[in-house]
Order: sequence, then C-alpha cells, then structure tokens
Amino acid sequence: MTALTGTIPAAGTLAADVAAALDALGVDKALLSGAHECRSPITGEVLAHTPEHTAADVEAAITTAAETFLTWRDVPAPVRGQLIKRWGELLTEHKEHLATLVQAEVGKIRSEALGEVQEMIDICDLAVGQSRQLFGKTLPSERPGHRLAETWHPLGVVGVISAFNFPVAVYAWNTALALVCGDTVVWKPAETAYLCALGTDALLAKAAAEVGAPAGLHPLVLADRVAGQALVDDERVALVSATGSVRMGREVAPRVAARFGRALLELGGNNAAIVAPSADLDLALRGIVFAAAGTAGQRCTTLRRLIVHRSIADDLVKRIAATYEGLPIGSPTAPGVLVGPLVSQAAYAAQQDALEQAVAQGGEVVAGGKRVLADEAPGAFYVEPAVVRMPAQTSVVQEETFAPIVYVLTYDTFDEAIALNNGVRQGLSSAVFTRDLEEAERFLSAGGSDCGIANVNIGTSGAEIGGAFGGEKETGGGRESGTDSWQAYMRRATNTVNASGQLPLAQGVEFV
Ligand code: NAD
Repeated sequence: MTALTGTIPAAGTLAADVAAALDALGVDKALLSGAHECRSPITGEVLAHTPEHTAADVEAAITTAAETFLTWRDVPAPVRGQLIKRWGELLTEHKEHLATLVQAEVGKIRSEALGEVQEMIDICDLAVGQSRQLFGKTLPSERPGHRLAETWHPLGVVGVISAFNFPVAVYAWNTALALVCGDTVVWKPAETAYLCALGTDALLAKAAAEVGAPAGLHPLVLADRVAGQALVDDERVALVSATGSVRMGREVAPRVAARFGRALLELGGNNAAIVAPSADLDLALRGIVFAAAGTAGQRCTTLRRLIVHRSIADDLVKRIAATYEGLPIGSPTAPGVLVGPLVSQAAYAAQQDALEQAVAQGGEVVAGGKRVLADEAPGAFYVEPAVVRMPAQTSVVQEETFAPIVYVLTYDTFDEAIALNNGVRQGLSSAVFTRDLEEAERFLSAGGSDCGIANVNIGTSGAEIGGAFGGEKETGGGRESGTDSWQAYMRRATNTVNASGQLPLAQGVEFV
C-alpha cells in the first residue's frame, strides 16, 4: 500500500483552517471556549475548545423547543419550507467551509466531505418540495353523506442523536423534513464532531433570522452520551431519531419505548456484496474497493463481507489486493489521497483486535491491516485497508468492526450466497454483481436480500436522498430521507365528517 509520507499537515495548520471556516460560517466566538477539546483524527491535535453541556442544559433546550413548537406548528407548511430553502442556499454558499470542518473532525477526503454537504443541500431541496405535499387521503364512507379523511399534524419536539461518521448529513436528513413538518428539533451531535455541529447550526440560525422564523426552533446541545440521555427520557420529546451503533440503540430504544415515545433507529450494518461468475469484474472491482476502503471503512454502509463464487474467488481477491497496493493513504487534506485516518485510537484497537480474531478463527490476511505513518503522525491512526479470506461466517465476521476490513467468503450455489448475505444480525445494505437477470431478480425478491438497501451492479455505499434509507433487524428498522419518510415526523388523525343531518352508525349498529 502507498502510505503517502509528507502529507501530514504541520502542527497548527488544520486549526487555522478550522478557525477561518468557523468564522466564515458565523459561529459565535463565545461557543469556542470551554472544557471540551475538539481533536482532529488527521494529526491528533486539538483544533478548538467548546463548552460541554450538562443534562440540565439539555432539559432547558427541550423546554425552548417545546415552547417554540406551539407557534411553529401553526405556520403554514409552505412558509416553513422557505426556512429550509434559505438554509439550503446558505449550505450551497458555504459548502467549502462546512466541508473543511467535516474533513478536519472526521478525516474524510475532500470529495467525500463536499459530498456530505451536498447531501444536506439535496435533502433541503426535497424538503422544500415536500412542504407543499404533506397530503392526507380522502376515503369513501360506508354511511351516506359522510366523508373520511386523514390529516397529518406536527409531532412536537424531535430529538436528533447523530453519529461521528456522518456528522452533518444525518442531522439535515432529519431536520429539513422535521422543520417543514412543523416540529422543532434538539440536536445532540457526536462528541467528536462539535465543530461541524456549530457550523451547521450557525447557518440554520442565520436562515431562521433572515426569513423571520423563531430562534428556538433548533437548539443544539454539545452533550456527551450521559447528559444526552435527558433527550431520550424526556416525555416532551415526541420522537428520538438516533443514529449510531447497535449498542447505543439497545440503550436508547427501550427507554424511549418505556415512556411510549417514538424512536427512529439508524444503527450499525454488516453489509455484503455477492459476486457471481457472470459479473463484469472490472465494474465489480471498482464498486468493491470504493465500498470497502472508502471513508477508511467508516460508513454504516461500508462493504464488510464479500461473497464470491468459488470459480472466480482467487482471481478477484488477487485483483482487489493489487488495487489496494496502489491506494494512497495519508492526510485526507493532501491531493490524491483516497484513504484517511481512523477516528480514534479505540477504533485502531478494535481493527487490530478484529484481525487477530479473524486469524484465530481460520482466516488469512491477504492484504493490508497494518498501521502506517505512525512516526509522522503519532497521535493519529492510519491503517492499510485489509482483505481477509475466511473459511466461514465466523463470530468476528458477524460483528461490525468500524474499520476497513473486508472478509471474503466463497459460495457454490446462489441459494448459499443469499443465505450468507442474510446470515448476520444486521440488515442495512447489500449488493449483487451479476449479469444474470434471474439472479438479480431473486436477490431483490421477498426471498432474496433481507436488507433495507439491496443493489444490483453497484456497491453497498453511496445512497441518494431520493430513496428511503435504513435497515432491518439490529439496524433498527428506521427510514430517513426519500419517498414517504416525512410521515415519521408527523402524527396522523382520521376524521369522519357527517354532513347528512342523520346519525347512522357504522356496521349497521342500532342504538338510541
Ligand atoms: P455511537 O453509538 O458510539 O454514538 C452515536 C451517538 O449516540 C453519539 O452522539 C453518542 O453520544 C450517542 N449515544 C451513545 N449512547 C447513548 C445513550 N445511551 N444515550 C444517548 N446518546 C447516546 O456510534 P458512533 O461511533 O458515533 O458511530 C458509528 C456507528 O454508527 C456505527 O455502528 C455505524 O454503523 C452507525 N451508523 C449508522 C448509520 C445508519 O444510518 N444506519 C449512519 C451512520 C452511522
């Protein structure tokens, strides 16, 4: 693998870029001091400081959002849409600045950081259109002179808990729709991405001020997972939209359920791609390498399991290993780099542990896996994306390790391939590379992939906001973006209207 030496920015360079971006985004300087250290995974250096909010601060934010809801819910939806229209314009104007924060705090390469902000702009477009389409159906009644209708109303306060790896897009997926739907939103970002959150929030505040929307629509709380639990437990929070690990979902979901709140869960994945003998291997190779090594393996949709027909497995593995050899690893700020750092030392420890377990379980590391650039960037954790051949879907393959490791399994029959695809507890994304129409259709059928995302001749990552996003089983069942996901942010009422002057009862019941 090509560890690009000389790419690590000199101390202070990133912090200076971040300070300029925060300034351009209009982040209040009072929010740039405090006990919390914001570090960059690119160098390990401290970029800035922010406050760390307490559970009491979270409760105060919920109070603000609950009070603001009482006026915002009565603003006509197309007028609410104007706020999101302006937010989208400001995001477009400041795309580079926000991408600088995403890059510095998460370590994404420039095009992926820009892509994340583009996703925010795209969901704003979708939500503005949706603001004129929060439609209910009208249904025929069985009673003469009666009409049935369904109406949709705002839910109340939405709590958004987001993960480090999509520090701003996931917030926008939720918030653009929730605000258009008439809700207010309290945001608890990941502890490693407070600067991204401040930049995003500053633009939304600017948009709100410009269109005359209330300031209390979108409180931001810089709270860790302990203080953040106030958001989970407070019965004024009608919907908790939580993105993160399965572990987090296990803690959050029962607590929200205990108070009969709603939860929208976007949890971990363990995504597979099947490669059939008929596949276009050049195309498959590109799809596999982007999905497995892109974002340094830190996407929820990262390709973690490759299920290859036995007849082509040796050849394909050789080609992946050869392509990996040429993958430039280094600071994502350097031109040409395709693989940036892991987010933390803990992520590196988990990567090493998974590789050890894989070998102990009969696996063979055929490419990558080692730490690189440790001398140049001792406080950062760069690793070579790894390819590991496994004899079976052993326990380590069943887990999501949030690092660039792809496990290769082989199959003989397509039934076996589908069983392997579905044979894990997570159910987010999946793909098949094939030119056999019957295989493709079987993969997409009820007996095929059991995931929320099932692709043909494209990798597992890189979704568009037009399609609903989310997964089944331990991934949590939630859906964000696309089609009818706005309904998650509203409550539905059924109305029966009687204009007959009589009072016939349904099902022919006779009473007084
Ligand atoms: P994480 O679970 O450690 O943290 C996610 C968020 O949850 C953070 O804001 C954290 O502070 C908060 N949190 C954790 N426990 C909490 C609790 N008990 N109460 C309240 N808040 C709590 O995840 P991470 O390391 O930030 O992100 C990586 C994980 O997220 C991976 O598993 C990845 O697959 C998943 N993810 C899923 C999606 C999706 O759409 N399905 C998208 C991005 C990331």
